[in-house]
Amino acid sequence: MATRDDILTELGLAPTWRLRSRPESPTEVAEDVAESSVASRSFNTSAPATSAEDVGARRERIARLEWRDFDRDVEQCTACGLSRTRNRAVPGVGDRQAEWLFVGEGPGSDEDAKGEPFVGQAGRLLDNMLAALGMKRGENVYIANVVKCRPPNNRTPEPREVEACRPYLDRQIALLRPKLIVALGKSAATTLLENEASVASLRGRVHRYCGVPLVVTYHPAYLLRSLPDKAKAWEDLLFARHTLGASKGAADAGANFR
Ligand code: URA
Ligand code: SF4
Repeated sequence: MATRDDILTELGLAPTWRLRSRPESPTEVAEDVAESSVASRSFNTSAPATSAEDVGARRERIARLEWRDFDRDVEQCTACGLSRTRNRAVPGVGDRQAEWLFVGEGPGSDEDAKGEPFVGQAGRLLDNMLAALGMKRGENVYIANVVKCRPPNNRTPEPREVEACRPYLDRQIALLRPKLIVALGKSAATTLLENEASVASLRGRVHRYCGVPLVVTYHPAYLLRSLPDKAKAWEDLLFARHTLGASKGAADAGANFR
């Protein structure tokens, strides 16, 4: 079946937010980010860099990071104000050859204490969602957040914090080359798609980020408060698996995660 994107492309109406192609080399990533910042973002990074050149140099450096240096670089980052209130930075966790990349909003208090994403209550639900698909954390799955440091009182990250942290997520995607990205909740979806639409309106379709197919579903923390939407989240995960073309895994039995 033709996706909405296919149809829009046919009509010459491809979404304007699809500015980037899949980055092929670190340099292209840097250029990509720089270009799309200029082209599509009115806000700028909050990096306390002294000039635009410093911001660009930082982006280029991050775009060349290898996995072995990645976590340490994030842990030492002071490019936005969240560095002042974090206990631990939370770079990301999982299989670095994973086909699946799950992206959340930002660390909460448990994650901030442990340095690992999704380890609190929402994380347990995410693990159960993965288990329902016959998957588990660390095996063919990588988990990251839009911002790597906890926003105080778990507030939504500000656009300038998101922009300061985006080079890290973009580098993770370039290194991982996932086959599918699952955006968990509005904050991740909004950031990745540069589209303010609701999760309800974005789910059930294949979007793209850096050329990688992306599907949107509800954030596990939201699902903990809104049990009826768990069934929809399960549909989304099945849709995601279908999108990825994986035929193996769990029986399509229903919303069997708790
Ligand atoms: N919520 C998120 O978005 N990310 C985490 O890592 C934990 C909770
Ligand atoms: Fe750096 Fe991102 Fe943490 Fe801000 S949130 S200090 S940009 S790692």
